[in-house]
Amino acid sequence: MTKNAKKTGKKNTVTKRTIELITNGTVIDHIDPDAVFKIVRILRIDECDDQVTVGNNLKSKYFGRKGIIKVENVFLTEEDVNKVSVISPHVTMNIIKDYEVVKKFKSKLPPTVEGIIACNNPNCITNIEGIRTRFKVKADDPLALFCTYCERTMHREDIEVRHIRR
Ligand SMILES: [Zn+2]
Repeated sequence: MTKNAKKTGKKNTVTKRTIELITNGTVIDHIDPDAVFKIVRILRIDECDDQVTVGNNLKSKYFGRKGIIKVENVFLTEEDVNKVSVISPHVTMNIIKDYEVVKKFKSKLPPTVEGIIACNNPNCITNIEGIRTRFKVKADDPLALFCTYCERTMHREDIEVRHIRR
């Protein structure tokens, strides 16, 4: 008991507090400030009944400003974080159990991106006929996504989010 109390006290520092305010769930950190609410939508966090905390324009040592999302009792997968990386690079996801980070992964783009985002070409068949979109990742920084239907290349600023089917 004493040992545990000591451990908790020691970890309760200012730098770690943002993560440790969550008991069980996921903390998505180092989000591009422009991407925070897109990620909320893409992961359907806006439909979540559990406790959700969204912070934006927080000071970050490495990225200037950042956003952070904390969701209680939701455990996102590595695949989720890869989807998130389409919206924002350099995202870190922390899985928390009993206040401890049990798993941590950084975003990584999959080779193809399917069904997450809409094509920005209004004449693309995916928009006209409501077909599931499919993009090849040609480059990740800056992002270039190649629509396999209309062959248009999209960049990060062109991205419109579609809900992911869970
Ligand atoms: Zn297209």
